[in-house]
Amino acid sequence: MSALQSIDLIKLTDDIKAWGRALGFQQVGISDIDLAHHEQHLSEWLGKGYHGSMSYMENHGMKRARPAELVPGTVRVITVRMDYLPPDASFAKHLKDDHIAYISRYALGRDYHKVLRNRLKQLGEKIKSALADTAYRPFVDSAPVLEHALAEKAGLGWTGKHTLTLSKEAGSWFFLGELFINLPLPVDAPIEDGCGSCTACLTICPTQAIVAPYTVDARRCISYLTIENDGPIPEPLRPLMGNRIYGCDDCQLVCPWNRFASISEETDFHPRQQLHGQTLEVLFAWDEPTFLKQTEGSPIRRIGYERWLRNIAVAMGNATPSEQLFHALEARNGKVSALVQEHIDWALDELKTKQAQTNSANRQKNRLTRVIEKGLPRDA
Ligand code: SF4
Repeated sequence: MSALQSIDLIKLTDDIKAWGRALGFQQVGISDIDLAHHEQHLSEWLGKGYHGSMSYMENHGMKRARPAELVPGTVRVITVRMDYLPPDASFAKHLKDDHIAYISRYALGRDYHKVLRNRLKQLGEKIKSALADTAYRPFVDSAPVLEHALAEKAGLGWTGKHTLTLSKEAGSWFFLGELFINLPLPVDAPIEDGCGSCTACLTICPTQAIVAPYTVDARRCISYLTIENDGPIPEPLRPLMGNRIYGCDDCQLVCPWNRFASISEETDFHPRQQLHGQTLEVLFAWDEPTFLKQTEGSPIRRIGYERWLRNIAVAMGNATPSEQLFHALEARNGKVSALVQEHIDWALDELKTKQAQTNSANRQKNRLTRVIEKGLPRDA
């Protein structure tokens, strides 16, 4: 009898879930690897070009929906959930103040890739210590993995109309990770869709990137525009981005299920003060060594200094004009790459236009005040 035949897989599954929780995962679910019914949606999505310049999504082809082609021998996927909602998220306060740089809340702390991969490896080793024949491979936010489809199959939640995994107990402020494994563990039951007739995320999306329920055109999504996209940000979309310089949380913020989300106890995900609630001018003034130092161990570092400046320049163009903004933008004029310069030029034009409109409105207001106070306009 092989080691696999002699082991109680139900008991092992219970142990895996308990080990996962002890490692800091809030939920652990198991699915088989049949994602065939996602293949058509994936093909259509790619066919429409909704992935933008993320060519790696195309490169993996249908491997994304076939885990055993990606990691031969895989028969199950263990999906884990780790909550990240930080204390003092200050959503409204920072989104309302257009001189503050808004950073998606998942990115304010330590790089989740490292945190989750490390814990998944520990979970894999635990399983291996119970059954030496175990082969596993961890994935975290990895291009070839259809993580939301797997999470749905594993009973962690359903895929909401915004295309993120959503749980009735935990909302959607969480990371997902996967352990591809060669053991035929018993699987969990999927959860029913709980979106119902709600369309709040489609309506709130600043760039209308959720083009239909369950379909996001990444080319319009602020997360894609500020993180994945390495070229210019399309001009018509810039004014819609507001002060969001790295990612966007709006579709999650408006989701009614996030009333049930808990604050993360992972101190790794708590905000780093140099990134949380900082003004646009302060972040724009960082030179490259400062950017690298201040974003050490943070997912933000991955976008590099050029995209960082590009994104902040757009937010500055969207802000209420001030002397500080003009000075900060002009101080970099001619000293940056062509990509950043183009966004600085756009921001300066935007600020000048708004300034001119404000001046004109103020002149009209003053004239009206004089008419009311003295009966006659002085310069009429
Ligand atoms: S906002 Fe509404 S439609 Fe969108 S994911 Fe949440 S429940 Fe679903």
